[in-house]
Amino acid sequence: MVDQQTRMCTGCGRQIPIEYNVCPHCGRPQNQAPYGPAPQPYGQPQQYEPMGALKYLLYLLSLSFIIGLIIFLIWNNDPNPEKRHVAKNCLLLAFVGIVLNIVCWGAIAMAGLMFAW
Ligand SMILES: [Zn+2]
Repeated sequence: MVDQQTRMCTGCGRQIPIEYNVCPHCGRPQNQAPYGPAPQPYGQPQQYEPMGALKYLLYLLSLSFIIGLIIFLIWNNDPNPEKRHVAKNCLLLAFVGIVLNIVCWGAIAMAGLMFAW
């Protein structure tokens, strides 16, 4: 009934269940070799396409506050570190956009007042 597959530890030579990746007796990592395909590397850093010029377009669009905020909300938790970086810059630019707007409209309002006199 118990047909548990075991293999010999490459470190201490004891029988360990085949699904163990690390020997419970001596702690030696067990790879699938010599037979079978090489074990899939886990936790390997994922490669992402560089964003290139796209991010500069997004920065430009972020000066319109809502777009910058939306990019930030979408990408702030992205696994791609470049997107998270862009997201933070977009949020920053969104606020720069607000300040520019206030300054711009303020200047127009001031000019309007001066001409009104
Ligand atoms: Zn062992």
